[in-house]
Amino acid sequence: MALIVQKYGGTSVGNVERIKNVARRAAKARGEGNDVVVVLSAMSGETNRLVALCHEASEFPIGREYDVVISTGEQVTIGLLSIVLKEMGLRARSLMGHQVPIVTDSQFGSARIESIDGTRIKDELAKGSIVVVAGFQGVDPEGNITTLGRGGSDTTAVALAAALKADLCEIYTDVDGVYTTDPNICQEARKLKKVSYDEMLEMASLGAKVLQTRSVEFAKKYEVPVMVRSSFNDSEGTLVCKEDKEMEKVVVSGITYNKNEAKISVLRVPDRPGIAAKLFRPLTEAGINVDVIVQNISHDAHTDLTFTVSKEDYKRALKIVEGTAASIEAKEVRGDTGIAKVSIVGAGMRSHAGVASKMFDVMANEGINIQMISTSEIKISIVVDVKYTELAVRVLHEAFGLGRGEVTEEAGA
Ligand code: ADP
Ligand code: ASP
Ligand code: MG
Repeated sequence: MALIVQKYGGTSVGNVERIKNVARRAAKARGEGNDVVVVLSAMSGETNRLVALCHEASEFPIGREYDVVISTGEQVTIGLLSIVLKEMGLRARSLMGHQVPIVTDSQFGSARIESIDGTRIKDELAKGSIVVVAGFQGVDPEGNITTLGRGGSDTTAVALAAALKADLCEIYTDVDGVYTTDPNICQEARKLKKVSYDEMLEMASLGAKVLQTRSVEFAKKYEVPVMVRSSFNDSEGTLVCKEDKEMEKVVVSGITYNKNEAKISVLRVPDRPGIAAKLFRPLTEAGINVDVIVQNISHDAHTDLTFTVSKEDYKRALKIVEGTAASIEAKEVRGDTGIAKVSIVGAGMRSHAGVASKMFDVMANEGINIQMISTSEIKISIVVDVKYTELAVRVLHEAFGLGRGEVTEEAGA
């Protein structure tokens, strides 16, 4: 008898018919003698709808109340699934984040899980119930409802699996595994049998939204085996696990893109020590993460600084930077939301030279202008005009030999 955490994303619970499908899968795992904890997202499109309502009410909705609103989608789906399970003659119990409780910090909109008390879930399992937990939400030490950032149900599931010492965490979504790139934009994308925590971490943080980045951090830290599968068929899925020797051989294992960033440029900043600190400190204080940063030095003691932030933070960031720019006598602040970050990821890059220049050659051959570049040990990212995203992904996928039939089934695994 094993303890399994199953998480179903928005498409998998998009209507009552699909919730019945989820119920059948959970019931099957229970029928095989396992303890089953199900984590659900809101119905697809619902969280977007709730976010839009908040922004209709205010340009900068207050964090606490924003989370009260956007966490409601999950309450609906966990209730519905529990109703369906009971209708099928099974014991089921829905639990909201605060009822578990899943305790987070107070960073509304992107709270981090601090602790999970598994007692209540274990009690319910002992009574023979399938426990159905609302993803994406928690409660802070003051009792306020919080949310974990978009895609946060994945993190709820993996964190619960870690806290309950589950044998497996299954992430059911609308694709049947982790691919070399988003299979919805590149037909040649190939499913990986296995992917290491580190590579998945890079891919997720660079835009492969199939898993939320924080969920992979949890999986890695607590060594939770995560299986990404489809809720619509029985194909095998992708196992996210510790790196093994085979994986190191692959130079590039995936291509990702992220259209959810925007670029801010501060032009003609007087080039003095401390300028970057002055610009970025207020952003940090406002809880805004800065991603790619490029600084150009000119010859007349002025510099241009360009960086990216997530689109959710863009308006706030622009307002803050405009304020700072005036005080440091910069000439102008420009914003651009029409960008995408395209990245190549691979653990084998550590030991292979020439990956970056090949990437730049490929872009040059397609006439795609590279606006910014950033690298780490196992990834290279470029920022390009958003209209070239799909093209860039496809040509890189091909250039690095990731397509079907070009590498063995085991490669990347
Ligand atoms: P869910 O609602 O189930 O959480 P998401 O939309 O958050 O689903 O994540 C699944 C989507 O992730 C897929 O539909 C796919 O378009 C996208 N995706 C991006 N990169 C990848 C990748 N490398 N492998 C698989 N899916 C990917
Ligand atoms: N419903 C939330 C969202 O759309 C959480 C999730 O789906 O994981 O971001
Ligand atoms: Mg998701």
